[in-house]
Amino acid sequence: MHTPDAQGYIPFIHNYCDRRCERCRFVRQCRVGALDVDDVGEAEDAVADETPEDLRKRLMKLMGLSEEDMAALDAAEEEQENGPADPVEDAREKAEMAEWKREREALDRQVDAHPLSGMGSTYLDLVHAWIEAREEALKARGVQLHHRMGVDIPAELHTPEVLVLSEAVQEVLWFHTMIHVKLQRALHGKLDDDDDDPVQSDWNGTAKVCVDAVDRSIAAWETFVELLPEEADDALPMQELLRRIRKGLDAEFPDALTFIRPGFDAHMGG
Ligand code: SF4
Repeated sequence: MHTPDAQGYIPFIHNYCDRRCERCRFVRQCRVGALDVDDVGEAEDAVADETPEDLRKRLMKLMGLSEEDMAALDAAEEEQENGPADPVEDAREKAEMAEWKREREALDRQVDAHPLSGMGSTYLDLVHAWIEAREEALKARGVQLHHRMGVDIPAELHTPEVLVLSEAVQEVLWFHTMIHVKLQRALHGKLDDDDDDPVQSDWNGTAKVCVDAVDRSIAAWETFVELLPEEADDALPMQELLRRIRKGLDAEFPDALTFIRPGFDAHMGG
């Protein structure tokens, strides 16, 4: 699973990483990362001005498709569009779609009712409100909230302490959406299919990503309040919630850490 494919990319590696491509050692062996790197330095208007041909090339690169693959896809699409309509087949497809929709909605309700879902979305809201209330004050101290922001921060504010603070805030902000989204994905996958491998399945790998994001967020909050003790009281609810999410993850996904992530766990054996 760690072996690169014919184009040199490790399959599925981007599904189980932290998505911080700017510091990832696999950036050239990952379809998503390779695109991200190629985009750095591109002017915004260059991307906006992309022609349909450019978009097609980007899609081919992302999917690892050749010109022959694209021609086959185009031909299949054309055949489908021009094929004769079959009312019986149409009715069967519609019934299947309605059944699939009912099942999805039932599953969504089950996921929404799970305590981990509620905690993930509460954490998202809390961090959102927290940063909104102090974004300007942190920036005024020289704290960089995102790795692609902050070029205008005066050099005299770049103290070692502020750099550490910036890293902690970036970790918190980066992971607060990811925790929510990945929790939902892990729960959906687990509740959807009992036949999956309990260890090497997508939902268990996603749970491992959640565990890592929660642990790193807990560490980031500790650093943050250590450097700004006056913030400790306001940080407490979010720290407590993260500890509960971590406990919930251990209970719902006890094998998460045994999942082997493509690329990242090649030399760890789990
Ligand atoms: S594997 Fe690395 S390069 Fe690829 S999406 Fe994840 S962080 Fe980015």
